[in-house]
Amino acid sequence: MAKVMLIGAGGVAGVAAAKMAQNPDVFKDILIASRTKVRCDAVKADVDRRVAEGNGAWAKASESPARITTAQIDAMDVPRLTALINDYKPDLVMNIALPYQDLAIMDACLAAGVSYLDTANYEPPDEAHFEYSWQWAYRERFEKAGLTAILGCGFDPGVTQVFSAYAQKHYFDTIETLDILDCNGGDHGYPFATNFNPEINIREVAAKGSYWVADPADDRPEVSVENRKAFDKGWWVETAPMAIKRVYNFDQVGEKDMYLLHHEELESLGCNLKGIKRIRFFMTFGQSYLTHLKCLENVGMTRIDPVDFNGQKIVPIEFLKALLPDPASLGPRTKGKTNIGCIFHGMKDGKSVDYYVYNVCDHQECYKEVGSQAISYTTGVPAMIGAKMFLEGRWTQKGVHTCEEFDPDPFMAELNRQGLPWQENFDPVKVG
Ligand code: NDP
Repeated sequence: MAKVMLIGAGGVAGVAAAKMAQNPDVFKDILIASRTKVRCDAVKADVDRRVAEGNGAWAKASESPARITTAQIDAMDVPRLTALINDYKPDLVMNIALPYQDLAIMDACLAAGVSYLDTANYEPPDEAHFEYSWQWAYRERFEKAGLTAILGCGFDPGVTQVFSAYAQKHYFDTIETLDILDCNGGDHGYPFATNFNPEINIREVAAKGSYWVADPADDRPEVSVENRKAFDKGWWVETAPMAIKRVYNFDQVGEKDMYLLHHEELESLGCNLKGIKRIRFFMTFGQSYLTHLKCLENVGMTRIDPVDFNGQKIVPIEFLKALLPDPASLGPRTKGKTNIGCIFHGMKDGKSVDYYVYNVCDHQECYKEVGSQAISYTTGVPAMIGAKMFLEGRWTQKGVHTCEEFDPDPFMAELNRQGLPWQENFDPVKVG
């Protein structure tokens, strides 16, 4: 029975806290620590109320409730954070703040001798760019300290890598191609809002697209060879933002436009999937979202560098975030479903195999259960499951690891139990 320190009190952290409270046999004591303490207190109050009511998925929680406490912390202050960890003595620190805090929290975990989990890879605040190199540089230090760091344990990254490990373990000798499809068929009624932290979301979708290939000569090029960059075991093929569009008919959602994006799990899966030749990531966007984004970009509102305004320095994207709806507030308004999954093609026993595994999640069902929309839910539930895997001694390799490096089976079983059931299709429509 474990003690866990959760850093962050936004949309995803709220779901992770709720799902931990629903599993009091594992999570006995939870400290919610974040920059703004009133938000931690609000998460605690909401979870405590649901535990006391004990409805549906909360029945077990009300029989023996976890103890929840809160604290104020700026996670960038490594000495103070280390002191807080030393004082509370958790078995695991879950970083569900922002990607900017990853390295500071990993430093504090090393200093305090505690294992670590997060949901997004490190991103420097002054550069709209993310990659694993910064966190992979901590591998040896975590190994030597006998600690585990689980990186990117949300849905994508996270479950998409567990799906990949599961496909590789059970259905393929070699996987040749992987397409990750992230569809949000939900509607919140606003002309423009983001479903998770607006700053991180806009930086991600405004960036160049890219996909991973093992051999650049193998692939039908949609961009010129000059845009291909060598990377470790393969190549990045870079495109202008949103340059590659496909239409896909998603189970329980319907037909949607989806666009190729760069995404962090491509980097680790390119290293870890046997025989892989190409990995792509597609996300659906509606026309209103894209038109607003283009307009905001054109007028400079998505800039991440400080500009002078009336004698003050203002970062436009931070100002924009202050104007947009808080993703944690979208829960009651968002209707519809998400469908996120992976389509694999490869070989098993000399035969060609196609395999699609995906989860469908209903925004309003999530809202009823934990008060959030499905994007926070599909991220917070896997974060809790990853923590559960670690605390139950199933995912404990020392060092710094991404989710495909662990045994997928117990995690897949938990997805079905904890609100994210998955479905399989051995004859999927492939993406062109
Ligand atoms: P929010 O913006 O809603 O919440 C972020 C929280 O972190 C806030 O409570 C914020 O505090 C806190 N925080 C920010 N800076 C600090 C700091 N210096 N010290 C302590 N706390 C801090 O974000 P989301 O909940 O939407 O996203 C959380 C994480 O999940 C992000 O890293 C995001 O990229 C990731 N994510 C991953 C997905 C996946 O599938 N893998 C999908 C969606 C999100 P304050 O309240 O003061 O602002």
